Parts: sequence; C-alpha cells; structure tokens
Amino acid sequence: MAPLNNTPGTAHVAGRSIPTGLYIDGSWWGSEQTIPVTNPATGEQFAEVSDGGAAEALTALTAANNASDMWRHWAPRMRADLFHKAHGMLMARKDEFADVMTTESGKPRSEAAGEFALSAGFFLWYAEQIAHLHGTYQHGSPGGYRVIETHQPVGPSFLVTPWNFPLLMAARKAGAALAAGCTVVMKSAKETPLTAALFVDTLAQAGFPAGVVNLVHTSNSAEFSQAIMSDSRLKKVSFTGSSPVGTQLLKQAADYIINPSMELGGDGPFIVLDDADVDLAVREAVVCKFRNAGQACVAANRIILHRAIAEEFTEKFIAETKKLKVGDGFDPDVSVGPIITKRQLDRVGGLVESFSGAGGTLLHGGSVIDREGFFFEPTIFRFDQLDHAFCNDELFAPIAALYTVDSVEEALRYANDTNYGLSAYVFTADLSRAVTVSERLDFGMVGVNRGIMADPAAPFGGIKESGLGREGGHDGVYEFLERKYIALTINETVGLEG
Ligand code: NAD
Repeated sequence: MAPLNNTPGTAHVAGRSIPTGLYIDGSWWGSEQTIPVTNPATGEQFAEVSDGGAAEALTALTAANNASDMWRHWAPRMRADLFHKAHGMLMARKDEFADVMTTESGKPRSEAAGEFALSAGFFLWYAEQIAHLHGTYQHGSPGGYRVIETHQPVGPSFLVTPWNFPLLMAARKAGAALAAGCTVVMKSAKETPLTAALFVDTLAQAGFPAGVVNLVHTSNSAEFSQAIMSDSRLKKVSFTGSSPVGTQLLKQAADYIINPSMELGGDGPFIVLDDADVDLAVREAVVCKFRNAGQACVAANRIILHRAIAEEFTEKFIAETKKLKVGDGFDPDVSVGPIITKRQLDRVGGLVESFSGAGGTLLHGGSVIDREGFFFEPTIFRFDQLDHAFCNDELFAPIAALYTVDSVEEALRYANDTNYGLSAYVFTADLSRAVTVSERLDFGMVGVNRGIMADPAAPFGGIKESGLGREGGHDGVYEFLERKYIALTINETVGLEG
C-alpha cells in the first residue's frame, strides 16, 4: 500500500459533496488505491473512496490511542454538550443522509429517512445518558472499609459495521463508544462508505477532537482486522455483521483478550396464532419481510402459521405483496429497492432453486427483474411440511417462506429449532398467551403484535449464534465501560471527635 497523501477527494451525490478519504487524527487523507462505490439501482459506479490497509489500521489506532487519555477525562457535561451539538448538525443534514443512503444502498428514500430518524434518536439517547452514568457506594461486608464501584472507558475501540443499515449501525455503535469516553476506529462496509463518511464528517465539524473518531475504508477487511486486532493497544471490538465473520473476530479477540460485542445474524421466526388479528399480522409481516428488500438481520425468515388462519393469512399476504412496487428507491411509489450487489442477487436466485428443490411451492414472484440494477421480485413460498434444513439459513432476501403448524407447542418447537437467537415475533389476541410464548422463545427480542421493534430505549441484541451484548437501552453504553472496584479503608473509630 502506497503512503497516504493529503489530497483526499470528494464524491458528489444528489448535489452534495462528501469526503472520500480516510479520516485519521483529525484530517482526511487520500490513497493511491481506491474502492469503487456502486449504485445497486443502476449497477453503475458513481464514486470511489480511498482504500486503507494494515498500515492505515495501525495509523488510525495510534491516533485513537493518543487521544484516549484526553477524551476519557472530558467532563461528562462537556461531552454531552458536544453530543447535543453534533445531534443538531446531524438533523440539519437529514436529507443529505437519506439521499446518500438511497444512492449507495438502494433502499427506498422513505426507508432511508426512517433510518436517519432512528439513528439520530440513538445518538440523542446516548447524549442524554452521558451525564447519568452511575456508580455505587456500600459498606464492605466485614466492616472497616467501603466498596466503591465506578465505571471507566474500556479504551480504543474497533467498530465494524455492515452495509444494510449503514447509518443506524454506525450511529448506534459510535454513539455508545464515544459517550462512554472511548476513542474509535470505525471501519465502513465497502458497499456504503459514503454514509459513514458523512456521519464522521458531521462529528468532525461539530468539534470532536482529533483522534477521537477515525474512519477507514478498506477492500481487504480480513487483513485490516488482523492488523488492528493483533495490537495490544486495542481494547474493544464491536462488530455488526454475519455470524461467520463474528466467529472469526472472536477468535482474533481471544489472542489479546479483547473485549467483544457482537451483533450477528438472525432467523426471525414470525408466528401467527389462531386467535391473531390476521389483517394486522399480514401488514406487519409485509414490512418485517420486505423492508430493505429483506436484507435485515431481524427480517421474518420463517413465517409460521397456525392451520386455523393459514389460508386466510396466505391469501391476504399474497394480495398485499402484489401491491409492492419494486424499483429505484428515489421513486416515491417504490417500496422495495434493489439487492445490494450482483453477487448477492445471484445468491438470492440460488435460494429460489433450493426452495423449489426442497419441495416448496412458489406462490408469487421467484425471478430476477429484467432491468438495469440488481432487482428481484418479492417472492413467496409455501412449505407443506416443516422443513428443518433452512432453520439455520439466514435468507437475507425478499423471499417469504410460509409454514403451517397445528398447535402453539409445535410453533414454539419449530421457532426455537435454530442456532440463531436474535428476534422472533408472535401475533395473538390473548395477553397470557403473548407473555407465555414470548418467554419460551429463545431469542434476545420478541415483537408481540408488531414486526418492527428497534428503539433507542430498548436493548437490541441476540443470544446463541446471534451475538454477545446489547446496543442501546440503558445498558448499551456499558458495553464500552469497565467496572472499577475501589476498596477504601477507613478507621470507623476516628473522625467524629472534632
Ligand atoms: P458481513 O459479515 O459480510 O460484513 C459485515 C462487516 O464486516 C463489513 O464491514 C465487512 O466489510 C466486514 N468484514 C467482512 N469480513 C471481515 C473480516 N474477516 N474481518 C473484519 N471485518 C470483516 O455481513 P454483511 O453482508 O455486510 O451484513 C449482513 C449481515 O449482518 C447479516 O448476517 C445480518 O444479519 C447481519 N446484521 C446484524 C445486525 C444486528 O444488529 N444483529 C444488524 C444488521 C446486520
């Protein structure tokens, strides 16, 4: 890799300029090698960003490490004020963010606007938490000393995010880390580097000091992470992405006992019981399945229907799915955008073949759309027998698979028959059933009569192979804080004489 230069470029998206360099130690840097950025709605390259490798990983880590002592000692109120200023500046750029996200990820403009609002909400949530981080004080068990528990920033953190929610993942992670007083090296997803650049550019303009936030793009994530994860100055890795890459990072983290947080894949079972409001279940299933063209970790992967409502649900679900318009996300009537890359489009086509081969009946869709870009029809399959072969396969595609069960027990058994444990959904009109079923679902999150549940106030995350730790909620910021116990000896017999 050639050395960085001080002539970083800019990309022009929907009339806006976005830095395309690497942001390290308070400056944007260009590199000789670049990574193309493609609009999945057209299949055409529209920009290129600088490409960092192992050397840049370590340069960014050095910057984060040098700034660490300064940033961790900023008074909470000062840090919170800076967050509030940055939040205001993010809000002022909301259209810019939505345009960039739609251009590089393909998601419909309305979904991009929704993602922006949620991301800004997370950032605000962390801003409000900064001045409220707590400690405890208590008497030591045998007396004679006091137990003080406080929290300290973990230290320089490596943040890795995926392309499917490019702003939400960056804001949710970096917001928590920075609020906790950690400095960060962010690695963008190469499909969506400009959203990350816009986010970091906004933080820089708000006044985050040099070295506190660093952003690197790379075409070689494996080499990049190997370099940074083998350096003992790194104290934390927070990753959102697929379970296989999460496993790899956990193995690397083991060598230096680096503190890990993992938000990994999911297999969202979506259960509709016999007493459910079917119209509501259909509406929520359409969003839960086809939002972001099915490319979501919390998407409905297996739709599990009680036999009593299966036919009605299926008819209505097909009818609603037929109404979805597929196309370029800038068209306001479009509700399903493209698949992210040609490679992923081919994978989605392969899934249709696997489903057909496994006895699934194609009820709707099933084909690549013959136009420029990477579009696939919203697709529905019905399986007449519970198929266990796909329980551990994250579809990540606009393909709905419907299964029928005869009892709540059978629904639960089938739903839990997966290595994943991120999100599950249950639709029922009975409160007791809702609680019992929710408690017996082996998942980190359960939506009751709703298909979307991300919220800054809620702990987002999974169990089993879906991850370790939580983002957001009251505890998310503590992923980036370590407990410190101070045992304070006192002589209880003195001090009261005066
Ligand atoms: P991915 O695992 O291929 O990539 C995620 C990120 O990891 C990208 O930035 C990528 O460049 C990077 N990466 C790839 N190989 C790496 C390596 N060897 N070392 C370090 N980094 C590496 O996943 P993806 O296709 O970008 O995203 C889809 C996956 O993300 C799905 O499995 C989805 O369920 C998951 N996801 C999970 C959540 C959650 O909160 N649990 C949210 C969104 C997406």
